[in-house]
Amino acid sequence: MEKPAREETILEQLTKVRQELSTLFEISNAMHKTLELEQILFVILTGVTSHTGLGFNRAMLLLLDSQGKCLEGKMGIGPDNGEEAKRIWSLIDDQKMDLDDLVNSYSLSKQVLNNSRFFNQVKNFKISVKEPDGGILAKAFGDGMPFHIRRESYGTFPGDPLISIFNSDEFVVVPLKAKDRAIGLIVADNVFTRHPITKDDIRILLTFANQAGMAIENSQLYEKAVVRAHKDSLTDLWNHGYFQYFFEEKLKQAKDHVSYMSIIMVDIDNFKNYNDTWGHQKGDDILSKISRIIADSSRKIDCVCRYGGEEFAIILPDATKKDAVVIAERIRANIEQHSFISESGHPHQNLTVSLGVASFPEDGTNKDELIRAADSALYEAKRAGKNKVCTAYLK
Ligand code: GH3
Ligand code: MG
Ligand code: MG
Repeated sequence: MEKPAREETILEQLTKVRQELSTLFEISNAMHKTLELEQILFVILTGVTSHTGLGFNRAMLLLLDSQGKCLEGKMGIGPDNGEEAKRIWSLIDDQKMDLDDLVNSYSLSKQVLNNSRFFNQVKNFKISVKEPDGGILAKAFGDGMPFHIRRESYGTFPGDPLISIFNSDEFVVVPLKAKDRAIGLIVADNVFTRHPITKDDIRILLTFANQAGMAIENSQLYEKAVVRAHKDSLTDLWNHGYFQYFFEEKLKQAKDHVSYMSIIMVDIDNFKNYNDTWGHQKGDDILSKISRIIADSSRKIDCVCRYGGEEFAIILPDATKKDAVVIAERIRANIEQHSFISESGHPHQNLTVSLGVASFPEDGTNKDELIRAADSALYEAKRAGKNKVCTAYLK
């Protein structure tokens, strides 16, 4: 009597392992289709939460920040409430969607994600990796071990920050590892179906998390390499190539959304004199100081580039000419007020810049026209005595 039952168990186990392997294979394939971090995170969390994947109700992913001090919420996927959960799952069942379909739907899902309360809560979540401040998450991260929490164990972590956003009876936290180093965490639960989380669920999630960790690290390395290739090494600003690319992108967006954009061209006044007096190396120091001031005087969304030599170009998405002139004037004043003391014993020199502003749509409808307009405004500023902001209107 016992023998068939045992055989059946083994067969069941084999079927299950086969199913798990095929799920892992499918998610891993999808993960390697792209090197873009955001898309990889989407694949990972879709894999953890979709019915055809690991089947958790909800999941969020946190990554260690660049200073290694905090875990930052990057993405959260899961319905906001039970009703929505039912609707989504029945839709997936009805349409027999597989994992690839879900992954391919990333651009559509992005909009839905942006409107999700859970996703936005996760995006704003940041916690120290230090214990006890970081609570459950810091512990799981520090130990590099999975952590299974049931309501009975909440007492061990009173008022834990994780429970404030992941308010559920039971959840699991697993580390994301790249070559034995923890780089983040996945938290998952079954808040709507209330299915208990089994040891098998945790085992497969852990196996998956190891693959996911490697994919995330590869993508981060790739993104770093891409950034490095587009940065100017002296000033750490975006280089000319990136300026051209970013300009086209933003101009297209401004046209598509019937919006504005502006550019500012900046040229250092009488810079040749500085080089002649103090040498090229001091000139380089001044260039990188001025770059910092320009970047600090601009908005976060502006793209500050070294256009060439001692010329800079700033792309200002969504900025009208009036907005751009305010920023250009701030740059001009901040540079004028800064003391560029070269060497001890050298007199204080009042270094200044001239700036030209042009805006879409009034000064041009393509990149070349707008650059030409900003250039001639800059020329006008030089002609009018330097240390000035001129707009393309004055032509
Ligand atoms: P203007 O006010 O008309 O702009 O006068 P200017 O002397 O700044 O003239 P211009 O813009 O034509 O001169 C550019 C000078 O900038 C030439 C060169 O000595 C200096 N320069 C350009 N690139 C670099 C660089 O990478 N490092 C250093 N140290 N100097 C540079
Ligand atoms: Mg110049
Ligand atoms: Mg100059």
